[in-house]
Amino acid sequence: MLTPTDTPIAQEDHVAPSTPTIPGQAALDWSNLGFAYRPTRGIVRYTWKKGHWDQGVWQTDPTLQLHLGATALHYGQSCFEGLKAFAGADNQVRIFRPRCNAQRLAQSAERLCMPVVPESMFLEACAWAVRENLAFVPPYGSGASFYLRPLLIGSGATIGVAPSDEYTFVVLGIPVGDYYQGGLRPVTAVVTEHYDRAAPRGTGAIKTGANYAADLKPHTESLAQGYPINLYLDANQQGLIEEFGTSNFIALQGNTYLTPASPSILPSITNASLQTLAAHAGYTIRQRPLRIDEVATFDEVAACGTAVIITPVTRIVYKGETICIGPHPDQVPPQMQSLYQQLRHIQFRELPDSHQWMFAV
Ligand SMILES: *Cc1c(COP(=O)(O)O)cnc(C)c1O
Repeated sequence: MLTPTDTPIAQEDHVAPSTPTIPGQAALDWSNLGFAYRPTRGIVRYTWKKGHWDQGVWQTDPTLQLHLGATALHYGQSCFEGLKAFAGADNQVRIFRPRCNAQRLAQSAERLCMPVVPESMFLEACAWAVRENLAFVPPYGSGASFYLRPLLIGSGATIGVAPSDEYTFVVLGIPVGDYYQGGLRPVTAVVTEHYDRAAPRGTGAIKTGANYAADLKPHTESLAQGYPINLYLDANQQGLIEEFGTSNFIALQGNTYLTPASPSILPSITNASLQTLAAHAGYTIRQRPLRIDEVATFDEVAACGTAVIITPVTRIVYKGETICIGPHPDQVPPQMQSLYQQLRHIQFRELPDSHQWMFAV
């Protein structure tokens, strides 16, 4: 496989070759990072023209010069990924399951008539963005991590409704804080009743900006009502659970791990990883249509995704009624907590990586 050092690197900005650095050298306030953009050393950028991707460039400028006719701006020809790199207990920096993100980005690209980013290029780009920004990778022990945001957009001047003739692939990386410094916190979710996130045969299953645009208003309204996350039901019947705005729905019921089956849910890599851990812990994994009127029978419910892994949900507001989940809605659901801890330990190399999920950069 290609690694950044195997590849001729076009130094667009004539940056001085990076001096050897170690995670955490940027000396930021690692325990108060939050989840926000902050400047780093730079980004990686590739351009697709006439059927080919170029070799990629490293640029210190975090802005793009984009033609006003770009399809990403007008027609939403845009998709992205989200994944994390961690400095482990052995001080090695590794990315969590990047091949899964490469595959998912390929699916998104295919659905939006965009050229696929080959897996080797995706891995190279992510590793490159991490290596050049090593000083901004939070040190082991801080609980913080380095969030990678690969983005693929139609960047050609194509004002007619058609796929672009030029594409730009960038990888932006930022250090992000440990969301649960004080331990997991259960939240109350609200069912979104007046909007749909995605149509059954629409773009719900791919990671495209359009789905996030559709969720902004419902999410903002939920927040204003005091609910940090909102849950979507299926657009067709409004009776089946889909997912939260930006994270999957998972539940434990007795010895069974449940997650909805639907064509309009984003296939979460966190969900897939938690399923593997749950299966090893003796749970039966069932992916099937889940009805909203079943939630009262679940022992534990959570939202899951890369950013925070698990958000325990112990109350769900539906049609004005509050449904409590499990016997102690004010406490952290213990089995979800255990799954969360296991995944964290693997990411920080505090447990053996028995599933080969960690990719060294
Ligand atoms: C990104 C995303 C998720 C979480 O996926 P992960 O791979 O676990 O980060 C869930 N739902 C939606 C709608 C998403 O966009």
